[in-house]
Amino acid sequence: MEDLKTHAIVKTHELALKGKNRPWFMRKLTNNLRQATRGAGVERVWQGQLMVGLSLADDDCWPEVKSRIKDVFGVAKFYKAYDLPQDLDALKERMPQLLEGRSFNSFRITTNRADKRFPMNSEQVNRDLGAFVKDLTGAAVSLKNPEISIFVDIQPKGFLVYFDEVKAHGGLPVGVSGKVAVMLSGGIDSPVAAWQMMKRGCHAMFVHFHSYPLVDRTSIEKAVDLVQHLTKHQYESNLFLAPLADIQKQIILSAPPSYRVVLYRRFMVRITEALARKYRAQAIITGESCGQVSSQTLENIAVVDQVAGVPMLRPLIGANKEEIVDQATQMGTFPISILPDQDCCTLFVPKHPETKADLETVLRLEEELDVEGLVKDAVENTERCHFASPEAAALAK
Ligand code: ATP
Ligand code: MG
Repeated sequence: MEDLKTHAIVKTHELALKGKNRPWFMRKLTNNLRQATRGAGVERVWQGQLMVGLSLADDDCWPEVKSRIKDVFGVAKFYKAYDLPQDLDALKERMPQLLEGRSFNSFRITTNRADKRFPMNSEQVNRDLGAFVKDLTGAAVSLKNPEISIFVDIQPKGFLVYFDEVKAHGGLPVGVSGKVAVMLSGGIDSPVAAWQMMKRGCHAMFVHFHSYPLVDRTSIEKAVDLVQHLTKHQYESNLFLAPLADIQKQIILSAPPSYRVVLYRRFMVRITEALARKYRAQAIITGESCGQVSSQTLENIAVVDQVAGVPMLRPLIGANKEEIVDQATQMGTFPISILPDQDCCTLFVPKHPETKADLETVLRLEEELDVEGLVKDAVENTERCHFASPEAAALAK
């Protein structure tokens, strides 16, 4: 089909895009697709009716464009399409060529008449073209369970014809739901939590706590790798590297070992909140799931939540470890997450920390500390790293 122009036709879940926000969502999706496919051989990204089209410079660009589109949230499914003049006879003439290499016993035609000026309605096109394909191939029409679907989209500028559906993640375009601050460890769970929020249209900023120089930089290196990986979904990210070592040194001087994790956590949340406010994020995200480890009991969650002045969201709260691992594997973050590291939370804590932290005890222990000063110091000494996906970097040039 060298002489036909190739396009990618992107569809969203219509329900997610209902109402007044639709034009804005579609604009955001179009922009995100433009960024995601930068440098991949896309000539033009354009908005059609309830779809976005990407015109490829060349049919050979398809595999790369396909893999980039798959990572764009808000895309429910997409197709490789060819464009033809708005002429049914011309389409019939092309049909043998379009169907070359496909063998099927049943099919259906699904027409969408986006251009209402076209003289036949979609049902009439379905019937007319269906009869033609039936004669041509000997295959039967099956509306319910066809082996292939032939889609004909009647756009003002011509027909778009396409066959094979590629499923994507759906969700909402990153950016439409605002910004969140993700507490990112080097572990398995928090990147999955970040991914889920990004899938719901949130732009993520990342906060990683480290105890360098009390431990080595392995957890920082993992956080960097994880953010680099996740940036392909949002094109640009900030990672904040917040120091916890001084705070931990203070805590071990005054608090019993069993309470240290809870106290670390409360400091992490205070610092994350301060960064969230500074960079206009509206919620804090963690990778906690109920009962997974001793710090993730309802009692301890309550004690940690108590310091948060913005909503703390835990998208994995009801997930099993196995489900989280599956998701991390699919996302490609699992191999990074399982690399050995020296995690700040395991520093100076017993094997079995308190599972039912008591708020009064925690408050009494914190009275011994200059909480405000420690938080302020940590925020001031936080390092910011900026990441751009290769596509976004090309765009900035
Ligand atoms: P993960 O796999 O995300 O590390 P986990 O099962 O190891 O989670 P915890 O270590 O109890 O659980 O951490 C719970 C959550 O607290 C993490 O999902 C993350 O959101 C946050 N967190 C833990 N350690 C750090 C850290 N060093 N920096 C930033 N956030 C952290
Ligand atoms: Mg962890």
